Amino acid sequence: MSIPSILLNNGVAIPQLGFGTYKLQPAQTRDLVLRAFEAGYRHVDTAQMYRNEREVGEAVAASGLPRAEVFVTSKLNNAFHAHDDALAAFDRSLEELGTGYLDLFLVHWPMPAVGRYTEAWAALEEILASGRARAIGVSNFQPAHLERVLETGTVAPAVNQVELHPYLRQDAVRAFDAAHGIVTEAWSPLGRGSVLGDPVIAEVARRHGVTPAQAVLRWHVQRGDVVFPKSATPARIVENADVFGFELPDADMSAIDGLNRDERTGSHPDTENRTDR
Ligand code: NDP
Repeated sequence: MSIPSILLNNGVAIPQLGFGTYKLQPAQTRDLVLRAFEAGYRHVDTAQMYRNEREVGEAVAASGLPRAEVFVTSKLNNAFHAHDDALAAFDRSLEELGTGYLDLFLVHWPMPAVGRYTEAWAALEEILASGRARAIGVSNFQPAHLERVLETGTVAPAVNQVELHPYLRQDAVRAFDAAHGIVTEAWSPLGRGSVLGDPVIAEVARRHGVTPAQAVLRWHVQRGDVVFPKSATPARIVENADVFGFELPDADMSAIDGLNRDERTGSHPDTENRTDR
């Protein structure tokens, strides 16, 4: 099984489907990331906040895969938007991961109440220029936050990673991203499991002889977004990557589109202001 890649705005290729690691305990992370590599994943999404960077890095090393064949993303934690703090936090990530460089480094949340995300972005631009990250981007940025980054920065974000699933279609954010050459990454692509019992999704899945999770992940893939479902269950890790052997016709894509309720499972980017994690 081979997972297609998408080109970012600086020419770096990102595998369209990766492995999410939020909520994986450090003790289980190495083994599960290795299972993901065995299942064909070549892209892992972690963050300073998840406290499992070290174990993700151990899995990359233990996999025996050439470093260039693995795409690793991490994210700047919320307490470190000040310029020097951001640089130091990036150094700690690289040390924890032991991967030599990062493929993608993101500002995790805009934290508008703190008001320093453009300062954090300037630090990420320096990291990019140093070659220690191949691409930089943002996460949970609303169009208004992105506008400020585009105005004050010199490099446009390569990606915007936002909560996105059939109950939260994110039309406005996706349209803004697309208009500015920013790839949209969908976090919680399964709505943390909340969308999997939906009868419309069950019916689409039944018609194609796939599971509800596969139908939803295929919907994301056909929309052109990047996804990284998380699972601590080995059989689901395999299942979630097996979404490139069937295609949803327009009618099924529209049926899933129609489920939008603007319903979040996580925080709203305009009000998230926690720096304690
Ligand atoms: P997901 O939408 O990936 O859902 C994960 C949940 O779905 C888990 O409970 C998992 O259970 C279950 N699940 C996974 N596969 C299946 C399946 N095939 N059938 C049934 N249930 C399944 O949620 P996440 O919040 O983890 O999002 C994915 C990734 O996005 C994160 O791991 C992280 O990397 C990133 N993320 C980024 C955020 C940001 O602010 N930038 C915020 C949140 C997430 P089990 O594990 O028990 O198998």
